Amino acid sequence: MNDIKNRLLTIQDEIQSAASASSRNPDEVLLVSVSKRKSAATVKEAVDAGVTILGENYIQEAIDKIETLGEIPAAWHFIGHLQSNKARFAVKHFDLIHTVDSLKLAKEINKQAKKIDKTQKILIQINISQEESKSGTTADDALALVKEISALGNVSIKGLMGMPPFFGAPEKARPFFKALARIKSAIEQENIPNVSMEHLSMGMSGDFRVAIEEGSTMVRIGTAIFGERD
Ligand SMILES: *Cc1c(COP(=O)(O)O)cnc(C)c1O
Repeated sequence: MNDIKNRLLTIQDEIQSAASASSRNPDEVLLVSVSKRKSAATVKEAVDAGVTILGENYIQEAIDKIETLGEIPAAWHFIGHLQSNKARFAVKHFDLIHTVDSLKLAKEINKQAKKIDKTQKILIQINISQEESKSGTTADDALALVKEISALGNVSIKGLMGMPPFFGAPEKARPFFKALARIKSAIEQENIPNVSMEHLSMGMSGDFRVAIEEGSTMVRIGTAIFGERD
């Protein structure tokens, strides 16, 4: 068996056991395999090994791979920082955009989605680490932003995404995952029309077990599946 297949099986096992250990249904946790800076051939290998969701960070790099690979039995998720002037490409190629953090960006996505008669699924990115360098809306502004975006007809909010500050220190990340889960619950209680809080996109190679314990429904894993990036 090749490396990717081996590592994928290991990760799938670990997701299952983390879910079971926290009395969650393992089917509730989706694996987004993060293929940034990996070649189209490597992505193909991963899909052949059973990967069903691919996460990409850079629009042009992703388009190159998507066009090279053509029809594949996997969905593409955009997980990088998205500039409004690239929204058209994101809408064209991605099933879910994890990183919407402003009304301006949501409006542009809405406009582009309307043109192609699509309802674009999105997550709202929250800056849970409160680092100025990081993308995401603040915890305080999240509810108001969700309400504003919910009025856009061709965008559908499916949940929240966030990143803790300490990569590779899972226990230190836990309070940040808890904070994101709390924001999710608070928004859920508002019962806003056209808004679902089905998904919490949190957890990466170093901390996905803890993220699952705290309620993650989408773990975004790159290195642990594809190996180190160049
Ligand atoms: C690169 C990246 C990941 C994957 O990180 P690994 O540590 O390689 O698992 C997850 N989420 C985002 C937003 C990323 O940019």
